[in-house]
Amino acid sequence: MHYEGNIIRPPSEADSILLQVTVGCSHNRCAFCGAYTGERFRIKDEATVFCDIDYAARHMPMLRRLFLCDGDAMVLPMARLRAMLVRIRERLPQVARVGSYASARSLRGKSPAELAELRSLGLSMVYMGLESGDDELLARMGKKSCVADILDKARLVREAGMKLSVTVIAGLGGSEGWQRHARLTGEALTAMQPDQAASLSLIPVPGTPLWDWVADGSFSLPQGLDMVRELRLTLEHTNMERGLFLADHASNHVPLRLRMPRDKARGLALLDAALAGERPIKPERARRL
Ligand code: SF4
Repeated sequence: MHYEGNIIRPPSEADSILLQVTVGCSHNRCAFCGAYTGERFRIKDEATVFCDIDYAARHMPMLRRLFLCDGDAMVLPMARLRAMLVRIRERLPQVARVGSYASARSLRGKSPAELAELRSLGLSMVYMGLESGDDELLARMGKKSCVADILDKARLVREAGMKLSVTVIAGLGGSEGWQRHARLTGEALTAMQPDQAASLSLIPVPGTPLWDWVADGSFSLPQGLDMVRELRLTLEHTNMERGLFLADHASNHVPLRLRMPRDKARGLALLDAALAGERPIKPERARRL
């Protein structure tokens, strides 16, 4: 496979064929994100991608999932996406699910009919980063889209019949804005009704603006139990009618995997027990991205 730079995938794509169709992220300006720092975005040429599909067909015939890397494969023009999905279907007939990251910005270029076509060609799992339900915070963090835009594009993804996974980040509001961030994030997740909501906990990355803000004291990073308190408030305001609420990433202090709405009360009780000192929380040194 022809890989270049950092290859990043969602945890739930650990057993997937990783097909790199772009290098880096077309936005690459989120203040907290060091995934593709210094990497120049480009779309890989079709011949290389097709060559990798053929390689996967020869060497990975057992894998039933495929993930389109890097940051946002949905920036590809429709003709390129169509040709690629057709090739995947032809050469990798065992693949039952193709997934991709998608931003509200890249989805803006796809009509509902085009999304439905992509779904019919096999693209059935889309991962979107909401990060926060707080518009002011999204703007401060350099996100290109507002909450209403993200919610609108998430709705189109779901209406096209794709599964939707949404990531949010505890800690992003800092020590001052955590309550507003947590409440609005829970409310946005409720409005989105994703199949899966995943809450990470913020870890500043060297080389990012956020790292500098922490260093110069202009951003106060919530620590340990403060992050747990924030996650609890987010969960309290999240009312999903179905799907999973996850906080089982390596960055999280208290691992949670909740089937919603059934397990919500259990999740809140687990977090309460951690806040009361009745359950251990992950030490800082054990956390990672
Ligand atoms: S968070 Fe996503 S959109 Fe923002 S810079 Fe990182 S990869 Fe790009």
